[in-house]
Amino acid sequence: MLEMATTKVPEVRDITRIERIGAHSHIRGLGLDDALEPRQVSQGMVGQLASRRAAGVILEMIKDGHIAGRAVLIAGQPGTGKTAIAMGKGHIGAKIFFSTGIIFSLEMSKTEALSQAFRKAIGVRIKEETEIIEGEVVEIQIDRPATGTGAKVGKLTLKTTEMETVYDLGNKMIDSLSKEKVQAGDVITIDKATGKISKLGRSFTRARDYDAMGAQTQFVQCPEGELQKRKEVVHTVSLHEIDVINSRTQGFLALFSGDTGEIKSEVREQINAKVCEWREEGKAEIIPGVLFIDEVHMLDMECFSFLNRALESDLSPVLIMATNRGITRIRGTNYQSPHGIPIDLLDRLLIIATSPYTEKETRQILKIRCEEEDVELSEEAHTVLTRIGMETSLRYAIQLISTAGLVCRKRKGTEVQVEDIKRVYSLFLDEARSSQYMKEYQDSFLF
Ligand code: ATP
Repeated sequence: MLEMATTKVPEVRDITRIERIGAHSHIRGLGLDDALEPRQVSQGMVGQLASRRAAGVILEMIKDGHIAGRAVLIAGQPGTGKTAIAMGKGHIGAKIFFSTGIIFSLEMSKTEALSQAFRKAIGVRIKEETEIIEGEVVEIQIDRPATGTGAKVGKLTLKTTEMETVYDLGNKMIDSLSKEKVQAGDVITIDKATGKISKLGRSFTRARDYDAMGAQTQFVQCPEGELQKRKEVVHTVSLHEIDVINSRTQGFLALFSGDTGEIKSEVREQINAKVCEWREEGKAEIIPGVLFIDEVHMLDMECFSFLNRALESDLSPVLIMATNRGITRIRGTNYQSPHGIPIDLLDRLLIIATSPYTEKETRQILKIRCEEEDVELSEEAHTVLTRIGMETSLRYAIQLISTAGLVCRKRKGTEVQVEDIKRVYSLFLDEARSSQYMKEYQDSFLF
């Protein structure tokens, strides 16, 4: 038997968990049943049934993973859950490339920022086959240094079907041998690429999989009782990651700093050609993910024409956009159009509309947010907050939850009362009162 090298792990003290509660952290999905029908309240989602039903159809399309270049627009008044619905789609269980952040900076052009966002939302599943040696262990020798804790070097004599070979064992292999409790007489496999050792059961039907990288080891029993060995290692990366790794000016470290700068179009063209080649050879699969652009009316004509072109490519994700604008000017032009989006782009969109909430729905959403933010509200305070939500905006009412909770804690209370709500309502202005204030005191402000 081999002795395991033991390392004493120092005790780790519990680290206080700091949870940040985001605006949509209560959203855990679209709240649909198996038939894609929305439940009134589910997974943090309340009401907005028609748009959630429509979003569910899109979600199935995305999960299917074969459709690229489709674009969806979620349109509706402010605070009607457009972003919430888009976020709900992000919780898809299956791994999906969901890209939301488009950062325009001085270091790159607008279209470069869009290109990067597009390519972050395209996954490439690359399959690799590695060689596996199988054989019966004839002898194991571990040489231990005179001092120290563990085995450092060793030899493994393995009899394969073709020959008897002696392998020098590195530390990694020794660890692997210890884990598997390998002894002479066992039949093992060695992955040549990683040096990982797996012990086969006597039945020779299946090897256990110890690869943390998601590799899958498959052993198929042949009629003659021999084993065929095939190890398929699957890596899934985004197209953007492949770009950065292959960009001579950047290098893969840029992936950690996020400071990728502009990537040359020749690099992208080469990558596209390579990926298509891999796809044809069956070595890679393209998985279109989702790119979400909120407040899409903020984009200008140059960006819109980029989107039009990018959607034509079969290396395009499903694009989901949201806007709360009606008929407005297209940025970068003097023309007006619905949602500030050019008509030719609008024409190719699937449009989902959101509608305002009823009082009951507003109340339910606020209740869910109170639970999320761990703030207890009295019945009356809940009613007052709901009224504020209906008369000002849902988002403003949501903002008052944590502030009222703080005021309540300061007076050593355990449950937010109407007084606490009134207090924060007078401390913080909603949009209408702020505009009113501006109108009244406009002359005293600097121009
Ligand atoms: P805007 O046009 O101003 O960007 P929006 O339509 O994107 O608004 P959201 O940001 O999604 O609105 O909604 C405001 C807040 O209300 C968020 O915290 C959101 O999570 C929550 N919310 C909105 N609709 C729902 C819903 N149907 N169920 C649960 N929470 C919701």
